[in-house]
Amino acid sequence: MPVSGEWFTPTGLSFNSVVARPDTTWVHFSFSDDDGIVGQGEITDTQVDQSIAPIVARLADRLRGQKLTSDSDVITLNNLTAEQLEEDVPLATAVSGLRCAVVDALAQRAQLSLVDYLRVSFGHEGKAEQKVRLYSNINRALKPDFDGSNDRSPDGFAEMAERAMEAGFTTAKCAPFDECMAPFNNSGLPREAEMGLDRIRAAKAVIGPDRTLLVDCHSRFDLESALALEPELRKEGVGWFEEPVDPITMADDLRIIRDKAEMTMAGAEMGYGVAFFTKLMEEDVLDVVMPDVKFCGGPVEAYLIGRELEARWEGSVSMHCPSGPLSLLASAHATAAFGNKIPLEHAVYEAEWRHEVLEPFETIKDGYLELTDGYGLGGRVDPVTVAMRGRAWTE
Ligand SMILES: [Mg+2]
Repeated sequence: MPVSGEWFTPTGLSFNSVVARPDTTWVHFSFSDDDGIVGQGEITDTQVDQSIAPIVARLADRLRGQKLTSDSDVITLNNLTAEQLEEDVPLATAVSGLRCAVVDALAQRAQLSLVDYLRVSFGHEGKAEQKVRLYSNINRALKPDFDGSNDRSPDGFAEMAERAMEAGFTTAKCAPFDECMAPFNNSGLPREAEMGLDRIRAAKAVIGPDRTLLVDCHSRFDLESALALEPELRKEGVGWFEEPVDPITMADDLRIIRDKAEMTMAGAEMGYGVAFFTKLMEEDVLDVVMPDVKFCGGPVEAYLIGRELEARWEGSVSMHCPSGPLSLLASAHATAAFGNKIPLEHAVYEAEWRHEVLEPFETIKDGYLELTDGYGLGGRVDPVTVAMRGRAWTE
């Protein structure tokens, strides 16, 4: 799918990280050619406890000096199979980052923003929006800060939700069930879920009936407890029920929950590739799938997932992105290209200086991320911020 025969021959590879919170370090890399074109990708390992950088370095070795014309060259030149990518999350993360960096570079070569490059490459009609609606995920802002402070009380949840609403977001998401982890001692609704429901009530009280609260359960429940929880969430006016159980390892249970639930069931943030997400929809496991640009195959694959699934099941794709500014930017290009119906996730208030991670600064206004008019991603990780708040290295 090269646009007018563009190609990119990477030679240099370097990594950097920015520490946002005690348990949030955004990790990125730059893939550069001898003409000064730099493609970037984020490889923050929020979900797997393994450094992705050495895997990127290994895969990149096969790409260096090659004439790359498509981000899928990352897969073919490394002889990777679809099965490997679906089963190995660290590998999928490295591949997603590399595919992002390569398409960022190719779009720069073509002198197009990434969103326009995607639409031109795949013959997508019309002009894309230049700003992308976001929803506010308040989870990460409720984790401990450097001074150790964090308020997981219902009031703490309400305060954070209120802050997001005052900033112009119309949807917030929280993960309130800290006390829960299946199996439970009592049948029906687990007693441990009461505190989570209190947090939900407090947050929903400030969000109000006309705006939306989404609830993520981080796979803390099982079939029976999820079925008991669903009517409780519905009673509180919750907008969706995300991952009561793991959609990958417990797909059969989730299918039963979805069948019995009246609420929208969302999930599958760790999946890779169009085929995987299509299967989840075809097999009625979920109502809304949540591809993450860091795991799903990068912005091109995210675009293809969105385009394919939205054409068959309208409102079925919500991009997952509790990540750093570079991933949010890549996700925004992908969602703008396929015309997202559901807002893109944004982890709010993890760091007051978050916008400074990118050059030019990340711009979020009234709940929308604004794309810049630069080529490719239109933003790069700022080396000054890396020097102040992180580190830079080569593998
Ligand atoms: Mg989630």
